Amino acid sequence: MKTYHGSCHCGVVRFEADIDLGQGTLRCNCSICAKARFWPAIVQPHAFRLLAGAAALTEYRFHTKRDQHLFCRHCGVRPFVNGHSPRWGEFVAVNVACLDDATAEELANAPITYLDGRNDNWDTPPLQIHHL
Ligand SMILES: [Zn+2]
Repeated sequence: MKTYHGSCHCGVVRFEADIDLGQGTLRCNCSICAKARFWPAIVQPHAFRLLAGAAALTEYRFHTKRDQHLFCRHCGVRPFVNGHSPRWGEFVAVNVACLDDATAEELANAPITYLDGRNDNWDTPPLQIHHL
């Protein structure tokens, strides 16, 4: 477990999060993850701290409207999602691509679990994963 510091592209939104990248990250084929190329690590809400930029975050909700997909209104980068699921309860999906002090080695070595969100199938990976 390590405390990482992250930000959006323009730097207005800044956060820190306690993440064990060895516990894995996600790639998902659902409509929002696929289009946004979202690459998250899932953490408990208490492991995530927004340090700056709350006023710059714009939220986007769709489908069940349960999850708060946030993006910086200045640069469009999506640093994290606040969500709720039967599987994880309340969670924060931290975009590991936004971690400024994660090394290339740490990111390259982080295991990836592929999710078939497009078919609402959370038990088996999608048939095609290499484009995610
Ligand atoms: Zn920004």
